[in-house]
Amino acid sequence: MNARWVIDKIKKSGLKGRGGAEFPTGLKWEMVKKAKAKKKYIVCNASEGEPGVFKDGFILENYPEVVVQGIKIALKTIKNSSAFIYLREDYYKKFGEKLRTLIKKEPIYLFKKPPFYLAGEETALLEVIEGRRPEPRIKPPFPVEKGLWGYPTLINNVETFYYVAKIIQGEYRKTRFYSVSGDVKNKGVYEMPINYSILRILKETNNLPEFDFFVQAGGRITGEIITPDKLKKKVKGQGAIIVFNRSKTDIFLLMENWVDFLLRENCDKCTPCREGVFRLAEMVKQRKIDLKTLNDLLFVLRQTSFCGLGKGVALPFFSLIKNLGVKEIK
Ligand code: SF4
Repeated sequence: MNARWVIDKIKKSGLKGRGGAEFPTGLKWEMVKKAKAKKKYIVCNASEGEPGVFKDGFILENYPEVVVQGIKIALKTIKNSSAFIYLREDYYKKFGEKLRTLIKKEPIYLFKKPPFYLAGEETALLEVIEGRRPEPRIKPPFPVEKGLWGYPTLINNVETFYYVAKIIQGEYRKTRFYSVSGDVKNKGVYEMPINYSILRILKETNNLPEFDFFVQAGGRITGEIITPDKLKKKVKGQGAIIVFNRSKTDIFLLMENWVDFLLRENCDKCTPCREGVFRLAEMVKQRKIDLKTLNDLLFVLRQTSFCGLGKGVALPFFSLIKNLGVKEIK
């Protein structure tokens, strides 16, 4: 199993990162492998902090040996490297012991993530491991060139390492893990083909509601709002499907939930997100929607925020307004 063979195999599989950004995994591995440096780092991101997304926890609970195998493959492929498994606090407590047993004597270290959502962002986690506040770094340079302590760093999430191991074992069948929750009968994590539509996933898991509903697909904060007539779409982002009973859901409360999360979890580093989320919260909490101002705010957030959290605010709001027909309320 040489490095070129491993990277070619991952590239050929078409695997894309399952942490949300969907960057081609083989290409990322190749970039770190080719980067010239005395040492390199590997980080398995197990921070999974967005509500409605719980598949990495499921994988760590049920298949930790496959995840560790994926990290060991990375260690062999990228010479002079050592690795961290960056775990949110409860995962650290729950799975730490088992992971240590599986790691044995390999240079893989467990790191407990602080309890902030943003500490899971790929450059903020580098800051945390280096001992600083969880604030994102400017990109470029990207972590593949300059990551931990300035060395090239490969960051993939739990599910991605799981599938790397499956690819190398010849067992990858183009599937992914979906977290299904909300107003459903069978909440859970399901492994199904990547090309399944939301409709098919809901049908096959016996979760297609008989009542009027809509879904949020991707994640419970950053995901897109989709109505039943558009369920032929595939799930993007982190693979979550949250079902809402339309007659029992107050959409202002739903938006309030989003803004409360964003107010609590943004890092205040950049003005568009800090001020924009504050103004958004004002509008939602006072239940006064001025569509022009809202559109302007979301446009600025998407175009000028420093990191993905601020940029990602626009999708749920735009899709909710468009698909659920929110009217101007003054
Ligand atoms: S977009 Fe938000 S979370 Fe990201 S750096 Fe700016 S203030 Fe922090």
